Amino acid sequence: MPAITADTLTLPRLPELPEAATAWRKVHKVVRAAKFLEGEGFQVRRPFPSLDLAMADPFLLLDHMGAVEYGPGEAKGAPWHPHRGFETVTYMIDGAMQHTDSIGGGGLITDGSTQWMTAGQGILHNEVPPQDLVAAGGLFHGVQLWVNLPRALKLVQPRYQDIAATSASLIASDDGGALVRIIAGELDGHAGPGSTYSPITYLHATVSPGARLAMPWPRDFNALVYVLSGEGTVGPESRPLAEGHLAVLTAGEALTLQAAPTPTPWEILILGGRPINEPVARYGPFVMNTRQELSQAFDDYQAGRLGQIPATHLSPADDQS
Ligand code: MN
Repeated sequence: MPAITADTLTLPRLPELPEAATAWRKVHKVVRAAKFLEGEGFQVRRPFPSLDLAMADPFLLLDHMGAVEYGPGEAKGAPWHPHRGFETVTYMIDGAMQHTDSIGGGGLITDGSTQWMTAGQGILHNEVPPQDLVAAGGLFHGVQLWVNLPRALKLVQPRYQDIAATSASLIASDDGGALVRIIAGELDGHAGPGSTYSPITYLHATVSPGARLAMPWPRDFNALVYVLSGEGTVGPESRPLAEGHLAVLTAGEALTLQAAPTPTPWEILILGGRPINEPVARYGPFVMNTRQELSQAFDDYQAGRLGQIPATHLSPADDQS
């Protein structure tokens, strides 16, 4: 897995938390990701939104793409489409996605890099594997998270942040057995590179077989743990959590996790944010507060007010819709 890695012995460490005096968060619920087809027909595992978990305020959606080994010509993407009212965060662990949008943002998201796109008042974008990866095939593994915007910020100017793999902050567990990449927000005073409108923390941890990972967690944030691969347990009650499963945790001040003693490490995403607590009206690529704002979004899209496909992308070779 070529997500950024490091020798944990040289990294700053998380504090050792007192076992008995810490309010550990327990598991409230475990949700199994359902499978969906997205874009031109690539499969994603989606723990939310689902029947079991409508949303995870302030998060709206989590799509886990792969890991999948594509043959030549098989890799697919999501051609030009609009968004309004929230932010998309795409983290590529293996393989690559080429991003282009209607505000001039764009770049290759690959091998541990992250792209943060604030749709705000409106944007059109194109998320596709690069031609050489499509032609050659190969391993493809990534995650897209949707982060809601509060009512007051739904119509901010769209913004694009390209976050290199090397800019993620790295921190180790207290005994060095786990590596934590801080993609956005902060952990124990260490800040990640992503600049977020809604306060969140977004981590990718690699936990060595049998190792324990414990960390302080803001009391006003929710807490979710999603398994990319491997097995482990969550909470002081050691609830098992396997690949494609998401744990929603209870309130508290700290998280405790442990990888199973299997041959491979436990790869997990740890997510949390301050709930926005506003009504959500969503339809496809638009997430607003009311149905009327949704129909306004459709009208604005039809009228071209969410942006235009750049002229250089209107050639037949590029028109994948
Ligand atoms: Mn999109």
